[in-house]
Amino acid sequence: MSPSTEPKKSLPLHFQILIAMLVGTVIGIAVNPGDIALSNSITASLSRVGDAVELREWDPESDQTVYAETFASAAVFADSYPKLSEALGDSEARDVEVENPRARFTYTMSGVQVTWQRSHDGVPAVSRLSSSTVSGLPVFWQPVAAEHPSGIGGTITTLAKSLGDLFLRLLKMVTVPLILTSLVTGVTGLGSQGRFGRLFGRTIFYYMITSLLAITTGLILVNLIQPGTGAILPGGGKAIEPADLTLVEVLYQQVNRLIPTNPFSSIAGGEFLSIISFAIMLGMFINLVGGNHGRRLAEFFESAFAVMMRMTAWVISLAPIGVAAFMIYATSTQGLSVFQTLAWYMLTVFLALVFHAVVILPVILRVFAKRNPLTFVRNLSPALLTAFSTASSNATLPLTMNCVEKRAGISNQTSSFVLPLGATINMDGTALYEVVAVLFIAQATPGFDLSVAQQITVALTALIASIGAAGIPHAGLVMMAIVLQAVGLPLEAQGIIIAVDRVLDMCRTSVNVWSDSCGCAVVAAANNQPSAAGSTA
Ligand code: ASP
Repeated sequence: MSPSTEPKKSLPLHFQILIAMLVGTVIGIAVNPGDIALSNSITASLSRVGDAVELREWDPESDQTVYAETFASAAVFADSYPKLSEALGDSEARDVEVENPRARFTYTMSGVQVTWQRSHDGVPAVSRLSSSTVSGLPVFWQPVAAEHPSGIGGTITTLAKSLGDLFLRLLKMVTVPLILTSLVTGVTGLGSQGRFGRLFGRTIFYYMITSLLAITTGLILVNLIQPGTGAILPGGGKAIEPADLTLVEVLYQQVNRLIPTNPFSSIAGGEFLSIISFAIMLGMFINLVGGNHGRRLAEFFESAFAVMMRMTAWVISLAPIGVAAFMIYATSTQGLSVFQTLAWYMLTVFLALVFHAVVILPVILRVFAKRNPLTFVRNLSPALLTAFSTASSNATLPLTMNCVEKRAGISNQTSSFVLPLGATINMDGTALYEVVAVLFIAQATPGFDLSVAQQITVALTALIASIGAAGIPHAGLVMMAIVLQAVGLPLEAQGIIIAVDRVLDMCRTSVNVWSDSCGCAVVAAANNQPSAAGSTA
């Protein structure tokens, strides 16, 4: 095994990361341009072009187009803008001008990406647009955009994003070789296939139970707090591209990935599930062949794993820089007004996540792994803080593996299997989030009342959506389309919650990683694997 991977610095890594997060947050908030109400005299013009309806909004003072959108039919338009559609009526007139004093624009920008919130008929909607050049933006935004990125705030945001992306690239660079070498080493170390079968069964059992517990917590809190009752959802917000798959297809897709047709292309493409299943088979067959061949290969992977762990430790020592950069980016680009609109919704997701992470998982850890949750959380803190700032379980995986093995002293035979698989399919935070978000949308949709049976459908589809979601930022939001479809809710309703998804994604990703790590301790204890002295309660 490699020597200690904790960098030799006076301040422990988790404190460095914590300080970096705070510094990043303060800088980000300082340079956040905030929300700016641009005008209250936006004029809308509606035109019929065949069956389609074109909406154009412009600022009469500058006569510049602020926003334009085309709807397939008058009915589709009416869904989005009920009141404006009254103005359109059945009239054959090609242009109907509507003074709309309630249209209000607030925006935040990073570089030349603009996120703006517009309210129409008192209904907030969120839209985004981005372009690599100022001239690529709609003309109305150009003067505003030209002003901001040139300011110090815009420059800091852009630099922070680039620096954060470099750190992410380093993490991604070590992830695939780390999973492969670690898993092969883990499986060859296990020896018998019976032991692997037990490890597999216990791991999947833990994943299912904790995800269902998380979902139950979400269901209870969203029904108690009722954040969606009385909330107004946007009509015109853009739904993100739906994952156009049925539930069975999602599951089948995952099963398909377990059998890569070309393991090398799966490794090159970073397909986690395929890499995991191939590495497991490779380890098993190395053991089966045994003798000189088996020993040579087992030793090769063990050496490669030791080198990858050392490389990972070096990347991890850079985590404070990457984390600070991500926090600057996250806090400088979030619009503030939208947080007010969605305060109850965010609070519900947050409380449910906190309950799962602070009560349910620690109890499981204490009872089944006999570990002190406080010690364990301290061991895992570099990974949890990185998960928070990057919003990606996959990108955090090298840190999680390092913390679990080096700081919490859990054997590689368990962690090499439980953690990569967990990063891919065990997402307690995501499952919980799906339930709360979908029920929030249902509560806020007039005339839509979800029965208990439908809520169970939401719970089960949320579980599958969380299994299908990749460990990358916003994956849960993409998979939510499946849950919405299952109970017949409009995909457009996602429009508004996109605006606050980054913050919630950061929270749920930390819970995802925390659950994987607790699972590792529980499964290791069930398999009677020794833990390093000092790491237990
Ligand atoms: N970002 C989450 C993760 O990486 C997935 C999600 O979007 O919920 O674990």
